[in-house]
Amino acid sequence: MTTELYPRERLGLVRDAAAKAGLGAVLLTPGPDLRYVTGYDAKQLERLTCLVVPAGGEAFLVVPRLEIPAAEASPAGSLGVELVPWDETDDPYALVARRLPGGLVKNGGGTVGVADRMWAVMALRFRAAMPAAEQVAAGGVLRELRMRKSPAEVAALREAGAAIDRVHRQVPGILKAGRTEREVARDIADAITAEGHAQVDFVIVGAGPNGANPHAEPSDRVIRPGEPVVVDIGGTMPSGYCSDSTRNYCVGEPPAEYRAYFEVLEEAQRASCAAVRPGVTPEAVDAAARDIIAAAGHGEHFFHRTGHGIGLESHEDPYIVAGNLEPLEPGMAFSIEPGIYPGPHGARIEDIVVCTEDGYEPMNVTEHGLVVID
Ligand code: ZN
Ligand code: ZN
Ligand code: ZN
Repeated sequence: MTTELYPRERLGLVRDAAAKAGLGAVLLTPGPDLRYVTGYDAKQLERLTCLVVPAGGEAFLVVPRLEIPAAEASPAGSLGVELVPWDETDDPYALVARRLPGGLVKNGGGTVGVADRMWAVMALRFRAAMPAAEQVAAGGVLRELRMRKSPAEVAALREAGAAIDRVHRQVPGILKAGRTEREVARDIADAITAEGHAQVDFVIVGAGPNGANPHAEPSDRVIRPGEPVVVDIGGTMPSGYCSDSTRNYCVGEPPAEYRAYFEVLEEAQRASCAAVRPGVTPEAVDAAARDIIAAAGHGEHFFHRTGHGIGLESHEDPYIVAGNLEPLEPGMAFSIEPGIYPGPHGARIEDIVVCTEDGYEPMNVTEHGLVVID
């Protein structure tokens, strides 16, 4: 059944957006765009599943016959979209082409939007089946909708944030001197699932020098007393919406120079959050953190963007980065995660925030300061 989270109107919104963008049709294979429009969390298989949204006609969902029960059981089953099964010996690409307006496929041609995450092999087979149609990424159309979260989507992000916060609260009981990053990461992954996520997306446990690498993989390094540890974790909830939060821990007292730059980082992260409100550019939100870090002499040790949008994907629009001048609007959801990585340790503080009418709402509310574990 359709829900508040996956409302029936989306199909019409996509059709309108496609028409406005001059696309003859949008083709969505399994992935976040298909889920956004239909609620169907379809498996990505070699057999084609594809929602076809013609700009001037009724949408239909092409589904391998074996997958029909799954499609019917999903919210897509009650959208009123025609399910078009195909059998093992059918050519589903030709089937889609046959059902689209002839002009789009042959003769004059036209433009079709293909899902950003469509497998290349599928895009190429569509190209062969519709040789006159130019393919463009459908993300340009979908992003306008997906970037502005509905109240139900914000509620799903709030639920995801609360779940990952519960995991961070357990970290002091998991992280001990003498354990390896990998052992700690495994227990944290279990907690991510136990706290209600359907899937663990990533677990970064970066101790000492590994904390100075923002994308460190958990290793067999044994965590030592006095070593700051960056813990950046996230997962996907059954709703489809993602969590992502970074906190910093230390077994015992960290080095004095760490304390000094960690204070700068806390101030920068607060300032960046405080800059969030409608009309402000992502570039300005990035600068709010970066200017403070640079003024403290650590500019070169903050070498990534301040944040990324989040929703059905853990990284999506809008990106909080210099050069992004598209003003924030209520409902936009993204991370604020400045870091300072001077080595032989580093730190990052990350919250997901949602832009509101007059500021922001944080999805993560656990202790932002260094958590000292004894
Ligand atoms: Zn993160
Ligand atoms: Zn993040
Ligand atoms: Zn520095």
